[in-house]
Amino acid sequence: MGNPAGPQPTSYPALDIPERILLGPGPSMVHPRVLQAMSTPLVGHLDPKFIEIMDRIQGLLRYAFQTGNPLTIPVSGTGSAAMEAAIANMVEPGDSVLVCINGYFGLRLAEMARRYGADVLTITRPWGEVFTVAEVQQAMQAHPPKVVAIVQAETSTGAQQPLDEIARVVHARSAILIVDAVTSLGGVPVRVDEVGIDVCYSGTQKCLGCPPGLGPITVGPRAEEILSTRSRPVANWYLDLTIVQKYWGKERTYHHTAPISSNFALYEGLRIVAEEGLEARWARHRRNAERLWTGLEALDLTLHVPLSHRLPTLTTVRVPEGVDEAQVRRALLEDFNIEIAGGLGELKGKVWRIGLMGHSSTPENVDLLLNALDRILHSP
Ligand SMILES: *Cc1c(COP(=O)(O)O)cnc(C)c1O
Repeated sequence: MGNPAGPQPTSYPALDIPERILLGPGPSMVHPRVLQAMSTPLVGHLDPKFIEIMDRIQGLLRYAFQTGNPLTIPVSGTGSAAMEAAIANMVEPGDSVLVCINGYFGLRLAEMARRYGADVLTITRPWGEVFTVAEVQQAMQAHPPKVVAIVQAETSTGAQQPLDEIARVVHARSAILIVDAVTSLGGVPVRVDEVGIDVCYSGTQKCLGCPPGLGPITVGPRAEEILSTRSRPVANWYLDLTIVQKYWGKERTYHHTAPISSNFALYEGLRIVAEEGLEARWARHRRNAERLWTGLEALDLTLHVPLSHRLPTLTTVRVPEGVDEAQVRRALLEDFNIEIAGGLGELKGKVWRIGLMGHSSTPENVDLLLNALDRILHSP
């Protein structure tokens, strides 16, 4: 039988995907050991062997998040699913939520909170800047929230938000703090217990060096209390942590089929994180970012974010006057096999975004990119 919509069904070619050098905002490159783990034969999602891996993943995630929180699991879905799990589980209709917006992902947090019926108050900073403690404190005085949400590593701007003091003022007013650590976990320090972050989530395809598909999340004691005393069920069935935790906890009750292969990949990715050690991994991300920053400035390019709060895992570079930014990205991809990204939102057309995350963060990749940019921008 023919295919009414197009070519003969048997004439589609086999996958033919080049091995790119991924230096964009994610996904980053995946360690060969992780790719191999992904091709492990499947077992059932309640197989004792899989349950053993689930427990080990939880242990390794606690290490990555630097937390003792019992409720620490990978949400089935990408970073946005973990973001939605954080909001859906902490927010009930009418709750007051303060969202700090200085980039694209802050906007997404506010949009999600609105969809769950929150009374959303926002404070904003220009894209590339960070919030001061006083700004958060002032907003909380004017309109005391139950939840404050903030992005630690704004992938749309390259700014890194300091958190320690913000956590203190949030708790002083009996609110809880949700932190987006999607582009920080495994790349820059994320210390959930020491800082006092109540809900922290991430994604696997940024600094953890895995494919996209899971969203690690950890829920602290204050947030667990909110979860267990909700007046209404969580509005999102799939992401309802009160049920999901029964699958990851002692009960092992079926809720949805865990993405087995993605969890095998995450397990291997987290083992690699532990082998390298968090401190060494943070230092590697910092060192390679500094190499990139020095090299970009030597090419007469201007970095968008001041050094004081510049994020090592994602760098924004201003597009020079008169340069076609999309053309440069196309040349990088077609002639040099390197992916970087353009700007989002307020920074669209104004910056390039260069990620040095996880397995992509190497001095060799930095030098490849700098040489390629030099050739493209400065060839006669
Ligand atoms: C990538 C990213 C997300 C969303 O993650 P997805 O895996 O794309 O769903 C959320 N927040 C930040 C800061 C990100 O960089």
